Amino acid sequence: ESQPEPKPIIRLQDSVINRIAAGEIIHRPASALKELLENCLDAGATSIRITVKDGGMKLLQIQDNGCGIKKSDLPILAHRFTTSKLSKFSDLSHLTTYGFRGEALASISHVANLSVVTKTKTDSCAWRAIYVDGGMVPAQKDASADPKPCAGNDGTTVTVRRELFYNVPARLSALRSSSEEYARILDVVTKYAVHNAGVSFLCKKVGISTPDLSTPSSTTKQAIRLLYGQEVAKNLLSAEISAPQMRKRKRNADDNIPEGSKSDEDNIWMAQAHFTNANHHSKKSVLLLFINNRLVESSRIKKALEACYTAILPKGTSPFIYLSIQLDPTTVDVNVHPTKREVHFLKEEAITECIADAIQAKLAQSGERTFEYQTL
Ligand code: ADP
Ligand code: MG
Repeated sequence: ESQPEPKPIIRLQDSVINRIAAGEIIHRPASALKELLENCLDAGATSIRITVKDGGMKLLQIQDNGCGIKKSDLPILAHRFTTSKLSKFSDLSHLTTYGFRGEALASISHVANLSVVTKTKTDSCAWRAIYVDGGMVPAQKDASADPKPCAGNDGTTVTVRRELFYNVPARLSALRSSSEEYARILDVVTKYAVHNAGVSFLCKKVGISTPDLSTPSSTTKQAIRLLYGQEVAKNLLSAEISAPQMRKRKRNADDNIPEGSKSDEDNIWMAQAHFTNANHHSKKSVLLLFINNRLVESSRIKKALEACYTAILPKGTSPFIYLSIQLDPTTVDVNVHPTKREVHFLKEEAITECIADAIQAKLAQSGERTFEYQTL
């Protein structure tokens, strides 16, 4: 019978709001790393070196040889919504870079200590700045927060330090062991290294000189061989897929398509796939899915691709699939989720089906060849 008294509604402190928001974007060390990697690639880096301590929970350092950051931009670097990649709302519809909302560095600075050393081609020295809770802070008490000159190569080194999530106990306790977090980090680096085979990557633990991953600038197939092994590489098929029939469909004069909207003729897309044949089957399912160069997840696409293999692989085993889809940016909704993992796009179902059909056809072809050979 006794109803509880309603509790008063109060506004959360900004620091709490900021940490909650940051946790939406930065789930774990590997998601911080993904954002930092994409920044390096956006900056045109051809070499990216990653150093990790305790699964990224104590230290995560990413060094690139990209364009660097101007000293005058350093004070606002870790503010929320500061970006060099977007200036008007309409820019969102034709983004070609990974980043777009200027939230990654801000978020990281709310859950860890962030330091940046950066040098542009025209700078005579590098500059170091340190960030906490969105703002630039001094390295020592009583010093000024201004960027300090230091030695450094062209490019940017971002260091995330002091226990990622030290101030968010719930998030910290959701993390697994440092070896599991490190495995996730390596997985992200491995996938980006395949997708950006022309860029050289290195990933290592702090204090250990032998890297766990090291790729030269190479081709996609060479990168797959190096990172996923000879057995995958020798059983690899590939396909280039696009759908002329989808865009050639005649536009009906009666169609009442509003001014400025996308017709099917404009809906141009392309996909490249590298995938294993029936000879390869692994307990572990490997899917590298990139949409407009961003590593994403899609349960729909995963299901459709795996369905191509149900008839040809032993039960409980899986293929290796790398699929890169390029879509007209205006048809992709990148703004759908803060983590930007689940991407949605127009004609998702039809495009997925088209890609699965092409893969299935290649698999059938290669299967026939094996079959003929075996029965001769
Ligand atoms: P976004 O990538 O969405 O713009 P971030 O918070 O990730 O937001 O980065 C903010 C800005 O900092 C970027 O727009 C870019 O100008 C600059 N920046 C970040 N990392 C790098 C880097 N490694 N090299 C050059 N510039 C960088
Ligand atoms: Mg970014």
